[in-house]
Formats: sequence, C-alpha cells, structure tokens
Amino acid sequence: VQAGGVVESLMNAAVSDPNDTGVKVIVRMRPLNKKEIAEEATHVISKLSPNSLSLIDQQFTYDAVAGDDESQQAVFDMVGLPMVENCLAGFNSSIFAYGQTGSGKTHTMWGPMPDSGSELMATEERGVTPRVFEQLFSRIQQEERNNVDKQLRYQCRCSFLEIYNEQITDLLEPSQKNLMIREDTKTGVYVEGLSEEYVSNLEDVTRLLIRGLANRRVSSTAMNNESSRSHSVFTFVIESRSKSAAEGASSVRTSRMNLVDLAGSERQKQTGAAGERLKEAGNINKSLSQLGNVINILAEVAQNGKHRHIPYRDSRLTFLLQESLGGNAKLAMICAVSPASSCKTETLSTLRFAQRAKAMQNKAVVNEETANDVNLLREQIRQLKDELMRMK
Ligand code: ADP
Ligand code: MG
Repeated sequence: VQAGGVVESLMNAAVSDPNDTGVKVIVRMRPLNKKEIAEEATHVISKLSPNSLSLIDQQFTYDAVAGDDESQQAVFDMVGLPMVENCLAGFNSSIFAYGQTGSGKTHTMWGPMPDSGSELMATEERGVTPRVFEQLFSRIQQEERNNVDKQLRYQCRCSFLEIYNEQITDLLEPSQKNLMIREDTKTGVYVEGLSEEYVSNLEDVTRLLIRGLANRRVSSTAMNNESSRSHSVFTFVIESRSKSAAEGASSVRTSRMNLVDLAGSERQKQTGAAGERLKEAGNINKSLSQLGNVINILAEVAQNGKHRHIPYRDSRLTFLLQESLGGNAKLAMICAVSPASSCKTETLSTLRFAQRAKAMQNKAVVNEETANDVNLLREQIRQLKDELMRMK
C-alpha cells in the first residue's frame, strides 16, 4: 500500500504540477514606520506560516509570505534567484512590485533610494533588482566557463523607461518622450525609439543606473509626487549562442527580464483635484486599473477555460507587458503591504489582488532558434552594425 502511494504521487508529479502556473505571488509586509509607531498604530496582519497570513480574522495563502523581519537577501532568494535561472534557461521572466504608496515596493525592488546608482549597488540594503544584476553576470560567467566546448556566449542589453500619465519616457535618453508601443509579428511588442544599451558587466549596468536614476529624479522634482504615480520598467534582454553537437548547427536563445516598480495602487483621492491633476489621476488609474482588469479576466479564463478577448491594448502598461500577463513569460508578483490598522482597507485590496494574480496562468516556453552558420553569421553582422551605429 505504501509503495503504491509513493508511485502514485511520483506519477502525479510527473504528469503535471498543478501549483506551477508560471505565476508566483509573494506578499511582503514592512515593519511599522516611525509615524505609525508614534500614532500607536496596531498590527492588523500577521504571518501564520511561510506561505500564509491573516488580516484580522481572514486567512490568505500565497506562494510565500515575507514577514517584517525578512532581509533583502532573503526576499531576493525567494524571488530573484529562481527568476534569474528561468531567464538564463531561455524563459522570459518578470518581477512586478504592487502595493499602495509607502508599502515598500521601491524598497523591495531597488532598496533605499540614494543619490546615485553606485551607492545603490553598494549598500547592504540593496533590493531585488541590483541583486538580479549581480546574479545574472556571475551566472553568465560561470555558464560560459562551463560550456567552452559549445562556445556558449551571452550578450545582454538593457533599457529603462517610465510610464507616467500614459506617456512613456526613456530614462536613458530623456529627450525621448511619449514613445509609442508597436507590435511586430516576429519579435513581439516593443517601444519604438527606446534606447537599448549593450552591457557586459556590473560596472556597465551601474553606469546606466546612475544615468537612469538621475533622469528620474529630475522629473520627480518637476512633477509633484511623481514617483508614486509612475511605473518604472527596467528590461534586460539576454541572448545566448551555442554550437550544438550536430555539425554546423547553432542555437540562439533570447529571453527578457522585466523588473517593474508599479505606481501606488491606492485609489486616487479626488478631493480638490481638478483639470490637469484630475486627468493625471484618471490616466494613472487607467494603467493600474487596466492591470487589475486584465488579471481579473485572465483569472476567470484560467478557471472556466472559456476563451475571451483580453484588452491588453487599453493601457500602456498592459500593452507593454502583455507577454508577462497570461502569456509567454514566468511572472513573480511581489505584493507589498503595511501592517498598520490605518492601512487596513488598502491592505485588504492588495491581498485580494494578489489572490487573483495567483489564479491566472502563464504559458512560458524556452525561446530557442536553431540556425545554420550562414544565417547566424548574417544575424551577427546585423547586430554588429547596429552596435556600430549606436557608438557613432
Ligand atoms: P513605495 O515604493 O511602495 O511607495 P517605499 O519602498 O518607498 O514604498 O517604502 C516607504 C518607506 O518604508 C521607505 O522609507 C522605506 O525605506 C521603508 N520600508 C519599506 N519596506 C521596508 C522594509 N521591508 N524594511 C524596512 N523599511 C522598509
Ligand atoms: Mg516607490
């Protein structure tokens, strides 16, 4: 009887893992802040187990719950580490941070925001994104060393953009404002005119970061409260080439890693907002509420299997990141919450959003192409030309 049980469970595991929908949802709670402590705020949420929590008398279960004492390293180990491995294996991978303003999204994705990117890369408190960079380059080096016989080579390029008021700004080239999203039948969705820069080590990325963060700062002083109203998207495109055993055949894997710090999820207070400000609030709601809509529909489709039109194109955010939502990508959603009683309503809304995100299903596949040498060389020539153009 016992042996049968083991065989049966092994077979079930081999047939399908019902928990692997390609979507991983983590809830992270921050500690009470000084203001909340001064106001003698009480905790309304508590972690019950490594993957469950309670809000007053309601219980919620996710893939993981990070308590208020969890370190940045521990959160990276939960989320960043597996996503880096996915990406190196050829899967598109995205990490989103969702939650109300002040819940810890930026702290989780980036760390304490200093004046420059180099400070950010150095601090012990650096968040998921800087750690993803480190891990990517260290694993790439390791993989290349271990696969010399296959002539395995990686090539990475990055872009960094912000969506504010339904407008896309290139943070690496901020004169490029209001960029448009296009769709190509072969390469998928892309931002027209967005700069992409080749990076081969941590120093290269740090340089980009210094530039990008400086540009973000400029715009945030110009626009009131901008950072809580904008979405930032850092994208890594990773390409690897290797020779397979078969004579003359080479394969190319391409995958992207999106690191997304979303705008605050709280309902925009309409009090006193008028004209431009009201329009702004409406637009910000558009990208975030469209994210909510798309996730709701996808969760429904996953549950009842009925085909439905998914309105990705109705906002910049969902159009740009459509692959990550129900498509060809692995997704990790970090939902950040405050433990304070004063945030109870928003926390509940975030916890419900997290449940719906968990219900959707992605269909990630390894993006690999096998090519003969001539095609591969043509492609390499094209890329080198591109690179030359960029350097001019
Ligand atoms: P958001 O980006 O969601 O608006 P922030 O990441 O800016 O929120 O966090 C708000 C404040 O709370 C910041 O001062 C941040 O340093 C602090 N904070 C957030 N999460 C944590 C945490 N897990 N541990 C310690 N401090 C945190
Ligand atoms: Mg923030």
